[in-house]
Amino acid sequence: MTTLDHRSPLVLDTRELGRRPGTMRTVRRTVEAPADLGTVVIGVAEGSPVELDLRLEAVMEGVLVSGTARATSTGECVRCLDPIERELVVDLQELYTYPGRAPEDDPDGTQDDLRELDDDLVDVEPVLRDAVVLALPFQPVCSPDCPGLCADCGARLADAEPGHHHDSVDPRWAALQGMASDRGRTENQEG
Ligand SMILES: [Zn+2]
Ligand SMILES: [Zn+2]
Repeated sequence: MTTLDHRSPLVLDTRELGRRPGTMRTVRRTVEAPADLGTVVIGVAEGSPVELDLRLEAVMEGVLVSGTARATSTGECVRCLDPIERELVVDLQELYTYPGRAPEDDPDGTQDDLRELDDDLVDVEPVLRDAVVLALPFQPVCSPDCPGLCADCGARLADAEPGHHHDSVDPRWAALQGMASDRGRTENQEG
């Protein structure tokens, strides 16, 4: 019994490699991006196309999957909140071992991050997800020199007049000053 869904476009069947080392097969397909492919600030929208160009190669220990995935990531500039759209090309490479067959460099099977073939199926979704998250910027910006937003009024500084600034009175102080002068006027009138 397998826990993988062979109908999922990110689950690949390796059966036709016949477990013969050196046998190879290429997989080129466009799949819909799974949910949560990215980080909270930028990622590949669910359902948007992901072009896979992969090579499945039977080796002694299992099946080596390598190749690229191409997608469009969308998000927001962390400085000015403008939408960002970026082409993303990530390299994928992962060895899926036959169950119970540890690779030569790890004869005791002590690596706990090994991925195993499951009923001759491989699930490339976790590998794709890791590669995409690694490739995305931690703090995406619309351009490296994006000046961001004015801290006082929230205007986009890229659109504002050069030298956009405010007299350095904190608006909260300005309000207090206004109240103080109002009170002063009232007192003067009474007195
Ligand atoms: Zn920006
Ligand atoms: Zn401003």
